[in-house]
Amino acid sequence: MSIMVPSKTPALITPGRQALDSALYQLDQAAEHLGLDDGLRTVLATPRRSLTVSVPVRREDGRLNVVQGFRVQHNVSRGPAKGGIRFHPGTDIHEVTALAMWMTWKCALVGIPYGGAKGGVAVDPTGLTTRELERLTRRYVNEILPLIGPEKDIPAPDVGTDEQTMAWIMDTYSVSAGYSVPGVVTGKPTTLGGSLGRSGATSRGVQIATLAALGRAPEGATVAVQGFGKVGALAAQYLADAGCKVVAVSDITGAVYASAGLDIAGLRTWAAETGGVSGYRHADALPLDDLLELDVDVLVPAALEGAITEANAPRVRARLIVEGANGPTTPEADEILFANGATVVPDILANAGGVIVSYLEWVQNMQAYSWSSGEVEVKLRDLMESAFSEVKSMAAARGLTLRQAAHVIGVGRVAEAHQMRGLYP
Ligand code: NAD
Repeated sequence: MSIMVPSKTPALITPGRQALDSALYQLDQAAEHLGLDDGLRTVLATPRRSLTVSVPVRREDGRLNVVQGFRVQHNVSRGPAKGGIRFHPGTDIHEVTALAMWMTWKCALVGIPYGGAKGGVAVDPTGLTTRELERLTRRYVNEILPLIGPEKDIPAPDVGTDEQTMAWIMDTYSVSAGYSVPGVVTGKPTTLGGSLGRSGATSRGVQIATLAALGRAPEGATVAVQGFGKVGALAAQYLADAGCKVVAVSDITGAVYASAGLDIAGLRTWAAETGGVSGYRHADALPLDDLLELDVDVLVPAALEGAITEANAPRVRARLIVEGANGPTTPEADEILFANGATVVPDILANAGGVIVSYLEWVQNMQAYSWSSGEVEVKLRDLMESAFSEVKSMAAARGLTLRQAAHVIGVGRVAEAHQMRGLYP
């Protein structure tokens, strides 16, 4: 039996299904390159455990809503499952499976001893009060409790979740265990055992990957960033700090542009106060999707999957695309960008800084110890830079794109773990 690989132009059912089709296509390419047999390909294409739960939420006005939640452990052959939890109305089991699969390859690629997982709740968190959000989080965690634990599966923040969500998860799990278990989640507040440097880790990794791939001094290199959330806002900040000229950023409220470069610190304050970048006085408004097609040196998609597709890829002018988000570029768009001479630093490499520092946080929790922010940053930089140079060398040696090379390394390590462990029974 072989992997059910979709056609390269899959029928668009949901964005989640499209993300899973992309992930399966990328896996199939890597498996082909590695010469994996059909049985192992099928194992790697299939999530190890998938749980769908119903989450009843009591609203402030007394109404009862029920939303769907998911937790998928894609692969645990190299260690406990690891992956974020997303609160987004569009999330579904396919999207969560795709994100879990990318986590598996990402952890293997950067050499940390985890498998891949992801969770999600199909809800718009901005439509809930803090108390509703807390009830929702605790009930969702209770429903997935049999799967998670510091030696089994360790959640972290993703779209629509944050440090507060992680604190509620840690508390819910700990109350059930009867003692404090900080290692059950990463991305916690530092007062609860969170690692110094975790909140900016994904963005710091994006900065490291961008500077490594740029091939020139950063001073004056123009950058556009799609998404101004946890990853995008600090990626913009760190790239500006490094000397780049961040000329455009966007979030769900709109896009803003300033040819002389945006004041990212000022924009972060504005967005925190008003709820988004739209309306920022010291910049011009831009139609949302135009940001992706600006004539800039670097484009950082840091919002959701499927931002660059075959429809807009021909108009993308950036020569370097650094994927802060997971799955922002479809396989069809990848081919167009490659044909046009653009370089894509793939998600499983570019945004791995988050899971690297999550791993450091978990190690610190398991040892009841904490490193200084300087120590965390050095370890993060080492792991990011060595993964980047491994991917670059593999791509050059085998004539692959950076995405193909990253998948060949990540998938290859997971395949090797399966081969060494053998099949039970
Ligand atoms: P977030 O919820 O903090 O921010 C998401 C941002 O995207 C928001 O600013 C939102 O307004 C914006 N957005 C949504 N749709 C948009 C659109 N159509 N155009 C422009 N902006 C849009 O989420 P996050 O944690 O920053 O995650 C962003 C991406 O990075 C996701 O793909 C996530 O899986 C990935 N990622 C996150 C982490 C992490 O540590 N948080 C780690 C690795 C990868």
